[in-house]
Amino acid sequence: MKNNEINNKDNIKYIVNKKNCAGCGGCIQACPYGAIDYDKDGHAFIDQEKCQKCGECTLICPFEAIKKHQK
Ligand code: SF4
Ligand code: SF4
Repeated sequence: MKNNEINNKDNIKYIVNKKNCAGCGGCIQACPYGAIDYDKDGHAFIDQEKCQKCGECTLICPFEAIKKHQK
């Protein structure tokens, strides 16, 4: 097995599409790792250092504003 398959979470990034984010705060409440907060414009922002890539936020968002991206 190649190294990048073992650590494949390193290739995943969860990103908020600000255009779709209504600022409802649902994802901020839902993130088990406290990785999401509001940015200065009132949109959700994911701290990539704290994000454990669990995917909870993508499930909770009513506007499908958070997507999983493969690097
Ligand atoms: S749940 Fe969705 S709409 Fe609500 S703050 Fe998070 S990203 Fe924005
Ligand atoms: S993927 Fe999980 S840890 Fe990362 S921001 Fe979403 S809910 Fe939080």
